[in-house]
Amino acid sequence: MDGIEKLDVLISVKDLKRRIGELGAEISRDYAGREPVIVCVLKGALFFMADLCREIDLPITIDTLGMSSYGDQTSSSGVVRITQDLSKPIVDRDVIIVEDIIDTGLTLAFLLDNLRARKPRSIEICSLLHKPARTRIPVQAKYIGFTIEDRFVVGYGLDWEQKMRNVPFVGVVRDA
Ligand code: 5GP
Repeated sequence: MDGIEKLDVLISVKDLKRRIGELGAEISRDYAGREPVIVCVLKGALFFMADLCREIDLPITIDTLGMSSYGDQTSSSGVVRITQDLSKPIVDRDVIIVEDIIDTGLTLAFLLDNLRARKPRSIEICSLLHKPARTRIPVQAKYIGFTIEDRFVVGYGLDWEQKMRNVPFVGVVRDA
């Protein structure tokens, strides 16, 4: 793949699979007897959501939500808007937001406020990655895959100028 040689592996395919299996088992236990709606934040969480859902042993439904943040590629401005809304109301539903990465926290803080106003029964966050060094608004994510250092990561859904999402591992750009 074009550019893949510029990446070092940060989280391997094997480690992703193992950790996502653990998260799926945890969610299955926590939500036993319920039917959560999995809200995938496009597009970065697509691959994670697809693999996570296969590890959840419950009757789930899936919805997607498009978000865009004004800012450059590597930093969020905090001005966030919904570019594609959910297809169904979430009133009285148990919502699990599935996100690729919590960086500054600005995107998720906005999203939580927005979705809470729709009166779900409960709402939790499941993020594959968390970069605590960059936090500007602390958001409580119940489920975190991996806590990472402040590096720009690419692959497994995360883009580098819209490309490289289909790299199977999470990589870091060498010398970046
Ligand atoms: P936040 O609002 O938490 O600063 O940023 C959230 C969004 O910024 C993520 O959902 C993701 O799309 C993007 N983002 C933040 N850090 C990275 C990164 O290291 N790599 C990539 N590809 N996107 C990132």
